[in-house]
Amino acid sequence: MVDRRYEAHDTGRGHPESPHRIRVIRETLADYRRDDLVALEPRLATHEELALNHVTAHVERVAATAGHGAGAFDADTPVSSDSFETARLAVGGVLHLLDAVIAGDVDNGFAFVRPPGHHAETDRAMGFCLFNNVAIGVHHLRKRHGIDRVLVVDWDVHHGNGTQASFYTDPDALYVSTHQYPFYPGTGAAREVGAGSGEGRTVNVPLAAGCDDNEYVSAFTSLIEPIAMQFRPEVVLISAGFDAHRRDPLASMGVTDAGFRAMTRVLLRVAAAHAGGRLAAVLEGGYDMDALRTSVPAVLDELGGRTLADALSTPVPQVGALAGAEAVQRAYWDL
Ligand SMILES: [Zn+2]
Repeated sequence: MVDRRYEAHDTGRGHPESPHRIRVIRETLADYRRDDLVALEPRLATHEELALNHVTAHVERVAATAGHGAGAFDADTPVSSDSFETARLAVGGVLHLLDAVIAGDVDNGFAFVRPPGHHAETDRAMGFCLFNNVAIGVHHLRKRHGIDRVLVVDWDVHHGNGTQASFYTDPDALYVSTHQYPFYPGTGAAREVGAGSGEGRTVNVPLAAGCDDNEYVSAFTSLIEPIAMQFRPEVVLISAGFDAHRRDPLASMGVTDAGFRAMTRVLLRVAAAHAGGRLAAVLEGGYDMDALRTSVPAVLDELGGRTLADALSTPVPQVGALAGAEAVQRAYWDL
């Protein structure tokens, strides 16, 4: 799902999270002709839906920017007159995709929305994010569809502090993140594992700058897949940023299209085993246009089951890079 209206959120000249990202994805999808690809049209989220994950004061603060021209929540997070409406459309797009997946109208799907969401906390916008699209999605699955156990895998190169915080004490939402570390926003150490009844339901896999497909795919096959299989999610969500791509200008990782394909396939296996195949990916970051042009079709090919006959390259085991996260998580999972 994508929509031209996602280009209305104007972040100003030179900002990496630009409307051009959606334009490039729209062009890419126009060229990506597959008979079984269903285009969904997003809707606006209601204030009540925004409030599933955000305090009323935050919803009102963002709403108050509507029609008021250029402003900013912080140095990274500018807004324009149309930002509130665009952000409501981003949340509504995710919720609409989830409804379609649960109804069985589609097998799985990808919501190409902006602004992104995973840095947004319950009471504040930050890091290009106004509302936490994926976190609201988790709450919506529970409230609207009676689904309890949701897996969120966040492969954006940045740690999703907002999503982690939303479910830090929640035993039924498993938040898993691979991210460059140390890096923005500073959270995401391996020892951050959740708290209270949510202890062990946050899985952080911090990776040093310079990691490539080997480390990422190893993390997914040797750590994330076994943990996710033991968790037995009813739905799988992906916070799918493309800024771990080797071309990305903001980060320093070396993931290629093949890496994104492999990560997608691991999560499809988890969804097939426990969630009836129900999986939804949601765009987060990703700031190189050529990377988007090739990585987006790579992930869609996997979601469409078109590449399952293709062997994925086997990663060189990366025990050292994952040792910290694995040691911490052994307290909670059979690894
Ligand atoms: Zn990011």
